[in-house]
Amino acid sequence: MSEFDIISEFFAKQHCHRKDVMHGIGDDAAIVTPPANQQLAMTTDTLVAGIHFLPSAKAFAIGYKTLAVNLSDLAAMGAEPAWVTLAVTLPEINKHWLQDFCDGFFALANEYDVQLIGGNLARGPLSITAQAIGFLPQGSALLRSQAKPHDLIYVTGTLGDAGLALMHSQLHQPTPRIQAGIALRGIAHAAIDISDGLAADLSHILQQSNVGAKINVDALPLSTELLQALPREKAIELALTAGDDYELCFTAAKDQQAAIEKKLTTIKCTYTQIGIITKELSLELHHQDGKHYQGRTHGYEHF
Ligand code: ADP
Ligand code: MG
Repeated sequence: MSEFDIISEFFAKQHCHRKDVMHGIGDDAAIVTPPANQQLAMTTDTLVAGIHFLPSAKAFAIGYKTLAVNLSDLAAMGAEPAWVTLAVTLPEINKHWLQDFCDGFFALANEYDVQLIGGNLARGPLSITAQAIGFLPQGSALLRSQAKPHDLIYVTGTLGDAGLALMHSQLHQPTPRIQAGIALRGIAHAAIDISDGLAADLSHILQQSNVGAKINVDALPLSTELLQALPREKAIELALTAGDDYELCFTAAKDQQAAIEKKLTTIKCTYTQIGIITKELSLELHHQDGKHYQGRTHGYEHF
């Protein structure tokens, strides 16, 4: 099979055709028309075999996750995803693998009306890079730098489940919190998606906003599966450090509580208040009874 056969048989088979894509796969570059008065949000992420997933991981899960991690970054900005490009290096051509990969990738792409508009294909160690592009009304982005003292700190969903999946050598298939990010425009002050562990990712908000936080580790949302599989202390540690959950962590002023409840309940997104932003610059983790949390807090480190 030539490179072009592979592209037309697998990558050009998506059913989603957006009206704003003038030219998708097939020319030297894709041509798209952004909506008037909207800003573009752009993000890219690479998944490398042996580092971001085990070489034995299912191709469907790899395809799904490649897109999910990019859409999660758009969600954390409050952006609505539209287009994606995909660069793949493969050690060999395996049709079954390619089909499963594309099934996973397109399952998520179609769910969010995201069109694959181009990419690249080359022989090399298995590595996959996607770039996702989305829209934002002018000035409505949720930034890491906008947390304010006395803000309440929230997370969506439950934390630590991806860490548990990894302990069983499974690739977690996270749900990017696209609707939640959009719902939080104009309500949240700051937001980030949790890719490296809550403690590490919240620290980015704290540093960029020049604030600190107090977190009640006993308030962290833990799934029943996680609590059945592990002792509570270990579950809390995974929730703080394991990463890969792709939930949103966001801060908002106290007077936004009712608005958050209304918006997130409407889209059936669960969320939990876990702490408060402080003027003091430290990140303080404590138990319900006020005692300091003694466990590990280091997240996933890339280097
Ligand atoms: P060029 O050499 O001009 O960069 P290519 O021959 O590499 O173009 O690719 C041909 C077309 O197929 C281009 O439109 C490109 O965007 C698209 N394409 C290549 N690889 C992929 C891929 N993995 N997924 C989606 N589209 C792809
Ligand atoms: Mg060209």
